[in-house]
Amino acid sequence: MKKKFYIILIIVVLIIGIIIANFNKKIEKKDNDFKILTSFYPIYIMTLNITEGAKNIKVDNMAESNTGCIHDYTLNTADLKKFENSNIFIENGKDLEQFTENIKELYPNVEIIDSAENIEKLIESEEEKNPHIWLSIDNYISQVNTIAEKLSKIDLENKDIYIENSNNYINKLRNLNDKFEILRDINNKKAVCLNEALEYLLEDLKINAFSISTDHEQSALSAETIKKIIDKMKEENIKVIFIDKEDNKNIATTLSNETGAKVVTLNSAMNGENNKDEYLNIMTENLEVLKNVEF
Ligand SMILES: [Zn+2]
Repeated sequence: MKKKFYIILIIVVLIIGIIIANFNKKIEKKDNDFKILTSFYPIYIMTLNITEGAKNIKVDNMAESNTGCIHDYTLNTADLKKFENSNIFIENGKDLEQFTENIKELYPNVEIIDSAENIEKLIESEEEKNPHIWLSIDNYISQVNTIAEKLSKIDLENKDIYIENSNNYINKLRNLNDKFEILRDINNKKAVCLNEALEYLLEDLKINAFSISTDHEQSALSAETIKKIIDKMKEENIKVIFIDKEDNKNIATTLSNETGAKVVTLNSAMNGENNKDEYLNIMTENLEVLKNVEF
């Protein structure tokens, strides 16, 4: 009987110990030295908007702004150095950053914010989910909300600023999203999409896209696949081919020559200027391009 009592006592002490240890793990914000690291361009732009005017913080972007997509990114020494000096890492999520598990092991003190935690739109096929979620403005708003909420809980000093900034930014994003309504109203929109980063925008606008997974690299498409796309385009009378501004145009031009379809270049907002309004600018440009497309 006595033995049982001691065992229970030990378990209780252990549990209390674990609770205290976890409590102490909470980040303590040091003056002028609270470092927020973002994974890549779209997340960096979101965070610039949320943190504008916040005190004693520093926002840094892990990948250079011209890196492009990081879905098969390999961390380099300079990146690791940035993690070493950071309090928070904000990722896109949905496995775009395949290195996050390694970061958790290497830098257990870096708090990780998964911006995609609450998104409602996820494009999934049998093989994989599409992590390029940010061109759906609804998803983007959800990401901004999640980052602002999490930052407010960790960095209480700037809580009001984060909430106010995110509300203002979300208002601008909602207004922009409303302007896309004109495109949603057009019926029977068909297209071929050669860059998976554009899929969310097309789906948002109810464009029925025959989407080809290219890893942002269309030159890797086989002759067989190209033949398949041409057949599909002729069969369904598809008149539009969407590519990203960073894409090599060769394959799209071949498809266009074979079918008479028009190549339309959009901007997937994966890189750009370090200007906090750049996502709004890019999406406004996309809207103007899309208004002139004849489906
Ligand atoms: Zn990608």
